Parts: sequence; structure tokens; C-alpha cells
Amino acid sequence: MPTDYQNTSTEQWLQWDKDHIWHPYSSVLNPPAMVPVVSAKGVKLTLADGSELIDGMSSWWSAIHGYNHPALNAAAKAQLDDMSHVMFGGLTHPAAASLGKRLVDITPAPLTRVFISDSGSVAVEVAIKMALQYWHSIGQPNKTRLLALRNGYHGDTFGAMATCDPVTGMHHLFNKVLPEHLFAEAPKTAFGESATEADLANITSLLKNHHQELAAVILEPVVQGAGGMRFYGGDYLKQLRALCDDYDVLLIHDEIATGFGRSGKLFACEHAGISPDIMCVGKALTGGYLSLAATLCSEKIAHGICEGEAGVFMHGPTFMGNPLACSIANASIDLLLASDWQGNIQRIEAGLKTGLAAAAELNSVEAVRCLGAIGVIEMKTPVNMASLQARFIDRGIWIRPFGKLVYTMPPYIISNADLALLCQQMVAALAAEE
Ligand SMILES: *Cc1c(COP(=O)(O)O)cnc(C)c1O
Repeated sequence: MPTDYQNTSTEQWLQWDKDHIWHPYSSVLNPPAMVPVVSAKGVKLTLADGSELIDGMSSWWSAIHGYNHPALNAAAKAQLDDMSHVMFGGLTHPAAASLGKRLVDITPAPLTRVFISDSGSVAVEVAIKMALQYWHSIGQPNKTRLLALRNGYHGDTFGAMATCDPVTGMHHLFNKVLPEHLFAEAPKTAFGESATEADLANITSLLKNHHQELAAVILEPVVQGAGGMRFYGGDYLKQLRALCDDYDVLLIHDEIATGFGRSGKLFACEHAGISPDIMCVGKALTGGYLSLAATLCSEKIAHGICEGEAGVFMHGPTFMGNPLACSIANASIDLLLASDWQGNIQRIEAGLKTGLAAAAELNSVEAVRCLGAIGVIEMKTPVNMASLQARFIDRGIWIRPFGKLVYTMPPYIISNADLALLCQQMVAALAAEE
């Protein structure tokens, strides 16, 4: 039986959308034009008028295998016929158990315990709660503050938001209710370079002066995503790991954007050869099919929490461990690991470097940088979103800039020809805006 919108004109449902729906970071008073998409396959999005766009965003880092992938579709359909959901309190099922094992197998050694949740922001909330409950349990209840990096992004819920960059995260709007955490200068060391003493001076002094009240350092390893699309060196992470150990402060890595190969390693912490005490994954976990995230921690943290006053970890989302999402996550991880993903990411990195190089010649461009399957064009001034987005669509590509940043992280399955076209049209659209 057709659903109501299948019998409805595009104009009509776009109007419903305009009248009733909030889109991310948007105004209802002056709603931006929304692009109607009706299906997607491989690296292409199909719009309501039948035209196709090459997807340069992987639906915000998530659709690494492209859309409508037969293996992921098959996993979803098989699980759907068994059960799409069952509560996780007191019950368990093979999809979650094997996802837990897979995640422990592919992440660095000391991470052994997996808490599955609904979204990246919740995974960050869980990580923060783990750190706080750990210190409370082992008799150090004063360790409640967090130390984050400027330009960081960790999600939009309150706990996560409080660790985002205070300026771009607009903390002043919420300052009466947000916990006041500490922020260190963003690392300046370029990717592949060693961290200098100057680079670490600020975070070292914050750790030195505040370690007694600090529960954890939280950061995005190597790639700062939504807070600025900046890359920095693994050596900084390595030295910071040692500092956290020296000052007895936990280390939380938010790998929600970087996980599953995007930066060229399966997890970005591998660029530093270190591991955090707590790690968050999300976004590409289900290959972009369903919302799912996980927070991993070491045996030390898990035991600390459970030996304490509460005796349990105080969290339990209704849709925790959703079987459908877990089954797709298992299939997505298997698909990734069965491929030559490292060679493939190198291929995409080379394609992005070649394809975006011409952007550096434009007067409006400040810098061009690429790492793994991420290509960033930083403009000198913020772009005009409406006109630039329309130009991208006219040129057959889907790119969603923000502020000064025009960037792409395409699905890993993108062909060389589509990648070249994507880059060429990105640069051409920016040139046309000058
Ligand atoms: C997207 C993102 C989050 C938040 O994830 P949601 O699923 O949007 O809640 C947290 N941290 C990082 C690094 C992210 O990129």
C-alpha cells in the first residue's frame, strides 16, 4: 500500500517540511531551501526531479560503503525477519554480542568493555559518565572536570556540548546550566610532525594546575572535525597520553568521525601508537544505515566503576543494542575488513590531493589540506551557503560547507572518475563564486 507521500507532489511534501520540520542548525523564520532526495545508490543521490548528485559527504562521515549496498541490505533484511528490536535489560542477542567482540578485536588492546548506545552524542555522554563514576567509585569524587581542546566537537547534548569549543559551540547561550570545563589551545603541530614543547605548554600547565579536579581529557585524535576540520600530529597524542598518566587523568578519544578508516588508519589513535582509556565510535559504525554508537573502556575503568558505591554503571537507553543496527554494523565492519581498505584510502587521498590542488590557486582560498579520505578547502571568509550549495547542485555534486570550510569525505567506494569529477566541480563552483 503506498504511503501518503508517494501520492503527493514534491511541492506538497516540501511545503510540509518547510511548515513543520526543524533541520540541523536552521531557522524556521527564514528556512533555507531543502534539496529533495528520494533514493540513493552507490555514490549517487537521486533527487525528486530525477537528477543525480555525486555524494561528497557520506551523509556526515557515515555512508562509507555508499548507499543501498547489497551486503548491508541483506544483513538488515535477515535481521528484520528475526526481530528488529528487543529490550537489552536482562535480554541479549547474537547481533550485539558479536558486535561487542568485533569492536574489541579491532580497537587497541586495553579496551575490552563495550557500552552500545543510540548516537554519537550519547556515546560521549556515556564516556563522560564512565570517567566521573570511575573516580567517584575509587574514592576521588573531586575529579569531576574535563579538559577539552579548542576547536573540538563532541556532539549536541548537554554533557557533550560542554566539551565542544566554547565559542563555536555558543556556550554563552547556556552558561547557567553547562558545567564549566577547561579548554587547551588546539594543537598546532602539522600531521606527521613532532609536537614541540610550545605546542604542549598550554595543556601541560592546565594538567599541572588542575589535575586534582580533572576526571579526563577528551579530544578527537588527529582530525578535529566539525570544530574546524583541522589535522594534527600523532606525536602530540603520544605525549599527551604520557602526561595524562603522569597526572592521573583519564584519556577519552572521540573517534566518532575518525573511526573505521577515514584518516588512513582503522582508528586515528593508531597514528600515535597509543590507546585511550575510553573510546567513542559512531557515525560509520553501521555504514550510515542506522543510528548506533558505542563507548569502549578498559578493564580498569569497568572494574573501578562496578566495585564502587553504585555497583553498576548508571545508564541504559531504551533502544540500547538495537539488533537491526547491530547486525548492519557487523556486516559493515566485515565488508570494510574484507576489502583492501588501506590501499583504497590511499587511492582516495591521492585523488583528493590531485583534484583539489587547483583550489589553492584561487584568491578566495586560504588553504587546502587532505588526510586519508578527507579533503578540506579552507576559504578566507565564510561562504555564502545558499548560492554555493545551488552551484554545487547545478554541477551534479553534493557538498555541504559550513563557515569557511568547504570539505569532502566521500564514500570509500567512489571511483577514480567520480572522485576526479567531484573535486573538479568543487573547485569550479568556488571559482565561479569569486
Ligand atoms: C558527529 C560527532 C559527534 C556526535 O554524534 P551524533 O551521532 O551526531 O550525536 C560526536 N563527536 C564527533 C567527533 C562527531 O563527529
